[in-house]
Amino acid sequence: MLGACVRSASTPTPRDGQRAVVGCYPRRSPVRHYSQKVLASPVADSADLSPAPFAHPGASTGDINVWITTLLQGFKDIIAMLNRGQFVLTDWVPLRNASTQQELDFLNSEAFTFRSQGEGMDVVYVESSFFVDHPGNVLAGQKNWTRILIHELSHLVAGTRDIVNGRTRYAWYGIGPHAGYPGGQCVQNADNWAFFAVDCGGTMTDSERSTALRIV
Ligand SMILES: [Zn+2]
Repeated sequence: MLGACVRSASTPTPRDGQRAVVGCYPRRSPVRHYSQKVLASPVADSADLSPAPFAHPGASTGDINVWITTLLQGFKDIIAMLNRGQFVLTDWVPLRNASTQQELDFLNSEAFTFRSQGEGMDVVYVESSFFVDHPGNVLAGQKNWTRILIHELSHLVAGTRDIVNGRTRYAWYGIGPHAGYPGGQCVQNADNWAFFAVDCGGTMTDSERSTALRIV
């Protein structure tokens, strides 16, 4: 299954100790009906959006419109960043000699990045679990690689987090919006962004969607 993500206040090496790092490392694996309506309609009916990965049942139209604005701007910013043609994918070289537990956690992650472009350039660090289909992951293969990159790009460009509510809200745990995990948190959570994008791309099966949007 998918790797879980961890966010740390420090980097895996002393080099960037003050900068917030967002990483993903393998663990286990979770949604609902992502609807392109979420992005397509500036004024949406909350009933129409209830199955989406951001709108919990009963969410107000006003809240939903705020979330739509956030998502629309965030994905536009991600596309603009990619179109600049200066996006770097690499491993974090010092981790090749990892020795501390924190370094090993990052080495064994799927990927990590600096939130809100805190590094001054657009880099996603791809680590050893990126190409591994761990048992419990919701997605596999190329679909999962795509999810990971969108997840990290949402951290890097849109400033999302890995929200901890119960446990960290990765899809393997459950990212379905509901009263206990409301839309205001979902719209800040990287894996909600990633699964939404994968679903908008038309590549998610009903089984994958229901697993990811599990209510926890
Ligand atoms: Zn993350």
